[in-house]
Amino acid sequence: MRVKRLGRDVTDRQVDILLVGGGVMSATLGTMLQQLDPTLTILMVERLPQVAAESSDGWNNAGTGHAGYCELNYTPQLADGKVEIKRALSINAAFEVSLQFWSWLVENDLLPEPQQFIRPTPHESFVWGAENVEFLRQRHVALSQHPLFKDMEFSDDPRVIAEWMPLVMGDRPASQPVAATRVAYGSDIDFGALTRQLVQSLQTRTGFELKTNTGVKSLRQLHNGRWRVQLKGKQAADNQIVEAGFVFLGAGGGALPLLQKSGIPEARGYGGFPVSGLWLVCNKPEIIRQHQAKVYGKAPLGAPPMSVPHLDTRYIDGKPALLFGPYAGFTTKFLKQGSWLNLPASVKPRNLKSMLGAGRHNLDLTRYLIGEVFQSHSKRVEALRQFYPQARDEDWTLAKAGQRVQIIKRCDDKGGKLEFGTEIVASADGTLAALLGASPGASTSVQAMLDVLQRCFKARLQETAWQQQLKAMVPSWGESLIEDAALLAQVRTRTLRTLKLQS
Ligand SMILES: Cc1cc2nc3c(=O)[nH]c(=O)nc-3n(C[C@H](O)[C@H](O)[C@H](O)COP(=O)(O)OP(=O)(O)OC[C@H]3O[C@@H](n4cnc5c(N)ncnc54)[C@H](O)[C@@H]3O)c2cc1C
Repeated sequence: MRVKRLGRDVTDRQVDILLVGGGVMSATLGTMLQQLDPTLTILMVERLPQVAAESSDGWNNAGTGHAGYCELNYTPQLADGKVEIKRALSINAAFEVSLQFWSWLVENDLLPEPQQFIRPTPHESFVWGAENVEFLRQRHVALSQHPLFKDMEFSDDPRVIAEWMPLVMGDRPASQPVAATRVAYGSDIDFGALTRQLVQSLQTRTGFELKTNTGVKSLRQLHNGRWRVQLKGKQAADNQIVEAGFVFLGAGGGALPLLQKSGIPEARGYGGFPVSGLWLVCNKPEIIRQHQAKVYGKAPLGAPPMSVPHLDTRYIDGKPALLFGPYAGFTTKFLKQGSWLNLPASVKPRNLKSMLGAGRHNLDLTRYLIGEVFQSHSKRVEALRQFYPQARDEDWTLAKAGQRVQIIKRCDDKGGKLEFGTEIVASADGTLAALLGASPGASTSVQAMLDVLQRCFKARLQETAWQQQLKAMVPSWGESLIEDAALLAQVRTRTLRTLKLQS
């Protein structure tokens, strides 16, 4: 695949940085770049009337500050029975990087009172059945030996667990073996509120501009390495051609089609597999009051990792709610407000082999997701009752979650494989980067955007001023929180205090 290079043409305006999409990723990268070099001109374009209306909105994601405390799919059991904790360690360390950056922003009045976007909410795992109890016990032993997880508690005593999660234990048969773990300083995050606050802060800076109701239609690289980008507004008069030195495709589900249009060789072979989601929502104060945690269980057999069921205390736009789900489903849309043609239109000669390979090897998953879409309300509440035995159909309503576009990548043996992570795809010359995938997602947005800086701003990262500023924003930058227990203790004491995550 060759990058299409056009000669210079009429350009309406020049900017240093173009951020495509107004979600948490673009907002985070924009904030970092503006702090690193306040003279940069930064344009953020968002196709919808407001920012944070897709995956980053509070109702569209689960709001879990993913730290590996409660998500059992981050710690698989190996064939020899051992629990693998590597992924949980790296996610926890990455989340700690986000907490540092948000702490710095709060301390410097660039974010408001932390309760407006993050709240302490214990992270708990709950399992039933003798085999699962044994797994959870071993998982606790493996994790709690590491400083990152030293505060994790374990119990197989129903009375203790009933104190941690009364709704989950009410009416549960006394003969059922149960176990749970708990980290008291887990968090619930309103990523929509966080994104809107970051963008509001950016709007007070000279050099930053937000254009809503404006979508990127196409982009081409010029001979001088800059990008010529066609913007489409609501009216023809709003259409513009912008030239940018660096482009970030933070368009969520819309990033893959734009990456394909960029024509960079690094995009070759990538495809997307969209997955929709639904929540059961309870707004009854007398029920919400009885649950103060995020309780994650084990995914049913054959279910994908993103459909691990959890019963969550949520604070969205400052209001408490109780959510259960998400029930993943099949869709062909890449964005909640996208088109049914998104999936078929994304199949190109350059990714046909990986798309077919991934399709062939994931027929069971597709069947499972289609089956989930057609479940009745009472079937869904039945699944909830495994968690909350006294749940009544009439107390819960259905709400639509956001879309996830899972990454499809080339691989030699199967032609293509489906991945459940997040990945940065960047051009070799560092002038363009895109974020693909959706997990662990917004929680690790800061680490993901540091990776963008590392890959696309190498020369500037050599400057002492950039290094000092990065160290101020993220004190553990350049060091390992997995290896350095003393640094971790220092960092965590500060983030828990500043973000008011520990009483
Ligand atoms: C059901 C579900 C549950 C989740 N749970 C969690 C969780 O508990 N914890 C967690 O950390 N993460 C979670 N995530 C993932 C998290 O929501 C995402 O990783 C994160 O919000 C992605 O942010 P983003 O900025 O990349 O994308 P988005 O927030 O989707 O923003 C992309 C923006 O780009 C705009 N756009 C698209 N195309 C164009 C275009 N051509 N031109 C201009 N603008 C465009 C869109 O309108 C949108 O506003 C979940 C996601 C889903 C769907």
